[in-house]
Amino acid sequence: MIDTTYPLNNNNDTIQSVYESISRCTSCVLSQNRTNTVPGEGSSNSKIVFIGEAPGAKEDKLGRPFVGPSGKLLDKLLNSINLSRNDIYITNLVKCRPPNNRDPLPEEISSCRKFLDIQLNLINPRLIVSLGRHSFNKFFPNENLSKNRGHIKKWGEFHLYPVYHPAAALYNPNLKTTMLCDFNKIKDIINNSTKN
Ligand code: URA
Repeated sequence: MIDTTYPLNNNNDTIQSVYESISRCTSCVLSQNRTNTVPGEGSSNSKIVFIGEAPGAKEDKLGRPFVGPSGKLLDKLLNSINLSRNDIYITNLVKCRPPNNRDPLPEEISSCRKFLDIQLNLINPRLIVSLGRHSFNKFFPNENLSKNRGHIKKWGEFHLYPVYHPAAALYNPNLKTTMLCDFNKIKDIINNSTKN
């Protein structure tokens, strides 16, 4: 499940060395138009890792994940369960912005996957929260997000908790209540989890 063939994936890796490798990466076309790579941020001791889809314009400009409109809503959802960015680690499936905010292509996701797998191995979170369909389908390629959101799934030794992407609730405000309910369960999941 975890890509063990990539040379980065060895005992000397640190979050910082992964960031440096991401900043030098030219494995896919997304590297050609980026202003900055957006590797992720937060504490590598965090118990929760959130995984979005891809950086947008503001993220590309600042090199930081979820600093645009989706990020504002994500902050509100986190605050609703008394969490802040300091309590979590957050990253994306792909670390460079797709042009015109299009969806990342399957080959871009698979070429960037090595970095995410190493980040997950290094952080070893109690819970992975996938934001949106693309992020969920990295773990469960053939499953439907609407049917699975709000329910924990086991992925190898990790626990995955899929929710909608905050951008979906910006387009469709009716989803906000669903997202608040799904986020509400996160604290209990963390408190009841035995990993680590
Ligand atoms: N949407 C994402 O999926 N990731 C970001 O970093 C910003 C918006």
